[in-house]
Amino acid sequence: MPSLTLLGTGQDGGVPQAGCACANCLAAFEGGGRRRFPVAVGVCDADGGMHLIEATRALPEQLQVWGQTLGLGRPVRPDSVLLTHAHLGHVEGLGQFGREAMGCVDLPLVASDSVWEVLAQRGVLQPFWRVDLERVVSRGSGGSGGEYSVAGVRFEFIPVPHRDDASDTHAILISGANSRVLFLPDHDDWEQTLAAVGHSTPLAWFASLRLTHALVDATFWGADELPGRNMSEVPHPLVEETLSRLGNRRAGDPEVHFVHLNHSNPLNDPKSPQRRAVEVAGWRVGQRGWSIAL
Ligand SMILES: [Zn+2]
Ligand SMILES: [Zn+2]
Ligand SMILES: [Zn+2]
Repeated sequence: MPSLTLLGTGQDGGVPQAGCACANCLAAFEGGGRRRFPVAVGVCDADGGMHLIEATRALPEQLQVWGQTLGLGRPVRPDSVLLTHAHLGHVEGLGQFGREAMGCVDLPLVASDSVWEVLAQRGVLQPFWRVDLERVVSRGSGGSGGEYSVAGVRFEFIPVPHRDDASDTHAILISGANSRVLFLPDHDDWEQTLAAVGHSTPLAWFASLRLTHALVDATFWGADELPGRNMSEVPHPLVEETLSRLGNRRAGDPEVHFVHLNHSNPLNDPKSPQRRAVEVAGWRVGQRGWSIAL
C-alpha cells in the first residue's frame, strides 16, 4: 500500500543551526530527540517506487529513517525527487546524487520551470533527468502548477507566494486512495496564499482539497523571535496567527502537523507552553518518522 513518511521537520538551517548557542540548539546538540533535519517527505507508491520531496543536506540520515520506518532494513534509494522551490535547505542535498556520492544517472527530477533554471545555473543537475509536469486545467481552487503521477499516488503542484528571489514556490498535494496530504513548508503569509487559492480561511481551503492531513509552515512562533534581525526579510506566517485562523480542531478537520520549525521556535521545546497550546487546540508538531498509509 502507498505510504507517506515525514523525514524532516526543521527549517532550511535545521536544528541545531550552524554556529548557534541558543537553548534549542544546545539541547539539540545534547541529543534526546531534539535534533530536526530540514523538512522532507518520502512517498512509497503502490509498486514500491520511492519518491523523495526535497533534497536536504541530511539526505543520508533521512534515507535511513525512511528505510527504517518502512522496515526495509536498509536506507532507501529514491526513484524520483520532487522539489517545492530552490531555497537552500530544500535543494542542498542534490549534489549527493551525483558521481561523488550515489552515482545516480537519469534520476527523474520533478520541479517547476523556474526551479530547473535556477538549478541549471548552479550546475547541480548532472545526475537528473527532467520530468515535465503534466499541465492541468485549474479547478477553481487556485492555479495549478501541474501534476506528476506514479502508481497509486498523485502529486499536484499548487503555486503559493513565497519570496521569489530564487525560484517560484509550490505546495504539493499528495493523494492516494486513503489520504490526501498538503505539503506546505514555505509561504509568505496567509493573506496572499488564501487570495491566490481563492478561499477565506485555511480550513475552507483544506476542505476544498478534501485533505486528511496538512503539513504546514511553522517557521516562527511569534514576531519577536529573531532579535537583531528584520523578520520581514524572511516572511512566514507566524504560528500564533495560524493557530488563531485554525481555532480548535473540530470533527471533520484534517490533522494539521506544524513543520519547517526554525531553531528559534519555542515549539522545539516539548515542555513549552506554546507546544501545549498547539496540542490543546488539537493540532500537532511534526515528528520525524511519522508515517501514514496514502
Ligand atoms: Zn524553507
Ligand atoms: Zn539556535
Ligand atoms: Zn523558502
